[in-house]
Amino acid sequence: MARITEEQLVLPSLMLMDNSQNRQITTTILREKLTAIFKPIGEDAEILSGRNDTKFDQIVRNLNAHKTFERFGYATYVTTGHNQGYYEITENGRNYLKENMPIVNYLLNNDFASDDLKKSFDIVFEDKVRSKNILIFDENTTINEGASKIITSKTYERSSQLRNIAIEHYTKNGRIKCEACCFDFEEFYGDFGKGFIEIHHQKPVFMFEETELEQTIGRALNNVLPVCPNCHRMIHKKRDVPLILSEIKSKISSKYTYCN
Ligand SMILES: [Zn+2]
Ligand SMILES: [Zn+2]
Repeated sequence: MARITEEQLVLPSLMLMDNSQNRQITTTILREKLTAIFKPIGEDAEILSGRNDTKFDQIVRNLNAHKTFERFGYATYVTTGHNQGYYEITENGRNYLKENMPIVNYLLNNDFASDDLKKSFDIVFEDKVRSKNILIFDENTTINEGASKIITSKTYERSSQLRNIAIEHYTKNGRIKCEACCFDFEEFYGDFGKGFIEIHHQKPVFMFEETELEQTIGRALNNVLPVCPNCHRMIHKKRDVPLILSEIKSKISSKYTYCN
């Protein structure tokens, strides 16, 4: 597992600055919040010898030592003495953040595992260098389908396309069931429950603007899973790491599993 890099911290840091009062954030608060977002594990979480902080903390400190935000013109660092200071996001930084807000929201709101977050922010960063657009999908669970349809966003259209293809892919003999507990809404609710299911993203699903949607969806199918809302909530119960399929399955008591 690769260590966290300064580049991976750039967008989440800009978001934290932008959400703070006067668009300023102290280095201490920034470090606390980045830790909560990235949930450092493995080598990142190791304590540095003779210090009170982790390797992850060191990388956050390096943002200042290496003038990482200044290099891109995204933020400035203001010293207030006593080894304490704050970052303030610049207009340039706000524009960069705005361009990438959908992807930042997607990555930070779906409780992905620490490693997947790091990998994804690398993809976003490389994308900036290559300046090609990344298009994102969303979990868009059926519960908010009505509202999402009214807000006809491009993300929603792509996501429902992925959702429909996933449903088609997982439908066997005209029925779809939860991959974890095998609950079948049509069997339980009759016609009213037909086709009801949520689509869980096991890993972030991206696509590049110039890529064929069909190709991306083919790849994305390996990363999505139809689950009932109960199992979906349990998969995301521990914020640090979503459960993988075999883990959730092993937790379901044989009394309640609907699998034959
Ligand atoms: Zn289930
Ligand atoms: Zn999910």
